[in-house]
Amino acid sequence: MALLPEVPRGDTAEHEAAKISTPTIALAERLRVVLLRTSHPGNIGASARAMRTMGLRRLVLVAPDRFPDPEAEAMASGASELLAEAEVGTELAAALFDVHFAFGTTARRRGVSIPFLAPREAAAEALRRVRAGQRVAVVFGNERTGLENEELALCQAAVMIPANPEYPSLNLAQAVQILCYELRMAALAQEQQASPFPARRDPPATIAEFEGLMAHLARYLERIDFHKGRSPKTVLLRIRRMLQRAELDRREVRILRGILSDSERLLGD
Ligand code: SAH
Repeated sequence: MALLPEVPRGDTAEHEAAKISTPTIALAERLRVVLLRTSHPGNIGASARAMRTMGLRRLVLVAPDRFPDPEAEAMASGASELLAEAEVGTELAAALFDVHFAFGTTARRRGVSIPFLAPREAAAEALRRVRAGQRVAVVFGNERTGLENEELALCQAAVMIPANPEYPSLNLAQAVQILCYELRMAALAQEQQASPFPARRDPPATIAEFEGLMAHLARYLERIDFHKGRSPKTVLLRIRRMLQRAELDRREVRILRGILSDSERLLGD
């Protein structure tokens, strides 16, 4: 995997958390909806509308087929501002580089070993995280092909709307609507409650920092000939899951990378 951009320093989750008081504002500020390789511009517009009706505003488009496009404008109706402000990129990893936790949505259970949540559970988890100052993404796949397994693997949890098993695939913008609705319900439910921010001393690692560690580990395992001719894929996936479960913070990632670097240095050139 290509190296990702450095994350700006001095941006601690706790500091961010302290600035924002209400759950709905935290959600609007820190949750982004990422649409991946969308084929129909109408779906982009309808997703923008779905977001705006639920108080969300950060839309990220990764490699859309056509954008901007009059069909997107038409379907966005009063939410065209969201389209004007949408960020457009070419890579999912780049769209997630400063995100702490990403949910990947999928119509079917996959052979990817991450937790599968229903939208309501996912929304509660997302709210807990944005209130603690984290940046969260919900990722949606292409209309026909959905998310690739490698794309889902960048996410820490999968969300499946428990639809009719014989026909589970919703229209993209309708899936966006359901997720955004649950997020708003979770935010409104918490609006009255006091905010118990989980006290973590160090800010959690971003996806870019985590992927930097994974890339470093992959190089290191090659270097020490750990695989001995076997495919590195399975073991790297296991390590990935193990480290994701640990929810590493930024300092922990630095420590692990420091250990790898020191031991590389001892191995010599
Ligand atoms: N065949 C694809 C369906 C693509 S539908 C698949 O197996 O995933 C386009 C997008 O809408 C999906 O990538 C997902 O982001 C969302 N979506 C559709 N139905 C969904 C469901 N039941 N649960 C969660 N997301 C869904």
